[in-house]
Amino acid sequence: MNLISIPAFQDNYIWVLVDEARRCVIVDPGDANPVLDAIDENGWQPEAILLTHHHNDHVGGVATLCAKYPHLVVYGPKETQDKGATHIVEDGENVLIQGWHFSVFATPGHTLGHVSYFSSPYLFCGDTMFSGGCGRLFEGTPLQMYQSFEKINALPEETLICCAHEYTLANMKFAESILPEDPAIQDYYHKVKELRVKKQNTLPVILKNERKINLFLRTNDIDLIDKINQETSLQQPEERFAWLRSKKDNFR
Ligand code: ZN
Ligand code: FE
Repeated sequence: MNLISIPAFQDNYIWVLVDEARRCVIVDPGDANPVLDAIDENGWQPEAILLTHHHNDHVGGVATLCAKYPHLVVYGPKETQDKGATHIVEDGENVLIQGWHFSVFATPGHTLGHVSYFSSPYLFCGDTMFSGGCGRLFEGTPLQMYQSFEKINALPEETLICCAHEYTLANMKFAESILPEDPAIQDYYHKVKELRVKKQNTLPVILKNERKINLFLRTNDIDLIDKINQETSLQQPEERFAWLRSKKDNFR
């Protein structure tokens, strides 16, 4: 099974899994055109689409792809029902596509119905977790997003986080502003800067590394707690998560 990322719009990635027979599964096709080009170039046979949530930059290409490939099965949460989903998925469900197993779990926060798909080692988490950061809370609460992060963090350390946006550089700039002395954050920020100067993709990322550099996964970290205690005192990790999210909302 091969993993490919197709860049779309300003900073989206459309993830594609391809098997030896060139059958493929497409995740969050916000735009059909770059996907159709890649299908033509590589001779892929699209089998299914997985949708994480209802935003247009994730579902915008569904209608065009389905018009061209009418046999496509489109999996998505209930909130994507009017965006082209043909099979509604729910938390805890297992999806089987051409011998591939995907477990579906609810990861609300960015939207209320947001789901993620896990097929070891790949996690397609849409706009929930980004490298070095977390999705904006358009519909959900900080607590919901914190619990979604807990679910992701319970996956094996070799899990590859396939998130939907190239936000890594901005996230690491923020992380460095919070913990400027942290060697793991410094190193990764430096590495990401170099990659982005060369316009290279920073994704996917391995969960093992994310645990070191993503502050939203470090809500029990003593250095982060010390930093927060300079301003306020928060007892619970989910309160520290909410503190981080609101700091990031106001970070320029
Ligand atoms: Zn979104
Ligand atoms: Fe998005």
